[in-house]
Amino acid sequence: MMGDRDFRNITHNAIRSIGNELEIEIDSKDIQTIHLQEVTKCLRRSYYDRIDPNEIERRGFNELLSGLLRKLQYGSEPKEFAIDKIKLKAQVDMITDDSILLFRSALGELENPQANDILFLNACMWIYDKVDGVIVYITGDKKEITFSLTRNKKMFEETIRRVRVFNDLLKEQKTPIIEPSSDCSDCQYFERCFMKKKSSKQISLMGILGKEK
Ligand code: SF4
Repeated sequence: MMGDRDFRNITHNAIRSIGNELEIEIDSKDIQTIHLQEVTKCLRRSYYDRIDPNEIERRGFNELLSGLLRKLQYGSEPKEFAIDKIKLKAQVDMITDDSILLFRSALGELENPQANDILFLNACMWIYDKVDGVIVYITGDKKEITFSLTRNKKMFEETIRRVRVFNDLLKEQKTPIIEPSSDCSDCQYFERCFMKKKSSKQISLMGILGKEK
């Protein structure tokens, strides 16, 4: 009979394999092609992903939803946007009724969309020339939280600035500065940026007092 531990390992391996299959393909040597995913998250993380990658720990199947929809190309072909000699590449999860849709997993109900998802959606609205966009968060208990946005030029200019900075850092082989955020605790490079994670044991105060007697 299959023990609980084996079953968890099998599921974990399945999520990892599907996740790897759905990852956007980045040619780490082609520094003139920058992917929108790279500049809407911590630049240091994207730099390590290209130069000296560690595998990401995936938590569950709902994290794979966005990749699955991209793969099925629900009305969304990848697009390129030229910034001087740099190509900025993007692909949305779905386009329907002339609006861009993104699907993301969430641990719980959110009051606001995540900053990196807003940057990503806003840039997609300019790259695909659409004025409306929606982010749908799906929680582990199958709740949906939807946010709609209209595009903002200043925010897109900030994304373009990040593309140029990332391209320069890759050219100069300089590691980007730390961008502390809530993503750091789940980041596979936490120990490179901060410190070695320690697992603390629970100590019973009564146990200590008992030993001192
Ligand atoms: S730990 Fe934080 S600052 Fe370091 S690479 Fe990861 S997300 Fe960026």
